[in-house]
Amino acid sequence: MVKMNKEIEILNEANFCIHCLAKPCQEGCPLNNDTEGFIDLIREKKYKDAYDLLLKTTVLPSVCGRICPHENQCEGKCVKKIASRSVKIGMLEAFIGDQAIENNWSIKSNIVDKDKKVAVVGGGPSGLSCAAFLRKKGYKVTIFEKYNSLGGLLSYGIPDFRLDKNILKQTINNILNMGIEVKYNKCLGIDFTLDDLKNNYDAIFLGIGTNISKKLNISGENLNGVYGGNELLEHKNYPDFNNKKVVIYGCGNVAMDLSRTIIRMNASKVYVIYRRDENNAPALKSEIENAKSEGVKFIFLSSIVAIKGTDKVESIELIKNELVNDGDNVGIKSIINSNYEINCDYVIKAIGSMPNLNLVNSLNLDLLDNGKIKINNFQTSDEKVFVGGDVAGIKSTVAFAARSGIDAAERISKYLEGKN
Ligand SMILES: Cc1cc2nc3c(=O)[nH]c(=O)nc-3n(C[C@H](O)[C@H](O)[C@H](O)COP(=O)(O)OP(=O)(O)OC[C@H]3O[C@@H](n4cnc5c(N)ncnc54)[C@H](O)[C@@H]3O)c2cc1C
Repeated sequence: MVKMNKEIEILNEANFCIHCLAKPCQEGCPLNNDTEGFIDLIREKKYKDAYDLLLKTTVLPSVCGRICPHENQCEGKCVKKIASRSVKIGMLEAFIGDQAIENNWSIKSNIVDKDKKVAVVGGGPSGLSCAAFLRKKGYKVTIFEKYNSLGGLLSYGIPDFRLDKNILKQTINNILNMGIEVKYNKCLGIDFTLDDLKNNYDAIFLGIGTNISKKLNISGENLNGVYGGNELLEHKNYPDFNNKKVVIYGCGNVAMDLSRTIIRMNASKVYVIYRRDENNAPALKSEIENAKSEGVKFIFLSSIVAIKGTDKVESIELIKNELVNDGDNVGIKSIINSNYEINCDYVIKAIGSMPNLNLVNSLNLDLLDNGKIKINNFQTSDEKVFVGGDVAGIKSTVAFAARSGIDAAERISKYLEGKN
């Protein structure tokens, strides 16, 4: 049973879509969801049909509906935006995903079992999507995950206030109910090797992510009180931020989630420092606004040049920047003699992430200069091994990671059927 008020809101929103012929919203969706098609079905209150239509391109509708950067994807392309505002496509997608959870609609449909076996390493959005789309094709799929739960960054990166973990858990259960086996607490490189998998499976997909914070390479980086943002979010072993001044360096997804998490831990001040201006910050505008409204202070056009302190962080030295035209990119130039200092207790790095280099170097696969695994149409230098998501250098969003898992499943299937 759909709650009356919610249903009225959803139907009003579906009716707000004008069903334009060009379907730019579908083009804007990394998963190529048939946006107008499922919105039309919502309008007719055919929610199960809308779910079945979405399942052709995604198994994560409740998740993507909530945390995709819609303003840069489907909603950013909506023609209604020109005259007033975009259709809230994310909200409609999440509604259909939630209906599937509430009504126990299964993903499983007419799976014809095949005898080939595929190992998927990593249970993040790329691994889960690859596993589901391989299973749909009938392959036996086993996910190897280093933790005792699945979801990857959906589970331990994105905070609960942005993604309800019950919704995530039920979305994952629905995927596993397709008949996917999971081996929890099994870490590639520690509990088993790639050769073990190659000896026991017909193909392997690696979706192991890149959750290691990049280094700043400035003095004071090794002082007590300097943390990697990715590791803090993943392991949650936060220091006591109560009444402390915390500096977060970077202005992307990780910085926004950290600042909003740490302000909730009663820090006296949380600064986000970014080298460019607000217009050129990678974080979603809406996330910057959310952080500001929660009390996070932003300092734009400044770079940290040193972290200072005797045995622990006491302050940071910054230099002011100006923007310069750098071909297609917006570059920065430091302003001479503009250095200044801010007192603080903690510095958290959020300037990007990279793969676990020890692990990727041990795999005997060709790598790119940044340590990510080199692929040709999702296949690595080892023909039996396929890669997707962040560790393959795919644009770092959930929908792009999921899409790469789905495309890799297609590629793996061709390989297994001898059609590559
Ligand atoms: C803090 C944060 C917030 C974000 N917010 C958003 C957002 O709002 N919207 C958005 O679209 N994107 C967001 N992203 C980006 C998005 O989460 C990633 O692009 C996406 O999760 C990548 O998926 P993946 O499957 O490649 O890797 P991951 O999600 O990193 O999953 C990798 C999986 O592999 C497992 N694993 C790793 N190593 C091993 C091993 N050796 N053996 C076995 N298992 C292993 C991990 O435990 C994990 O389950 C955010 C990222 C971060 C860090």
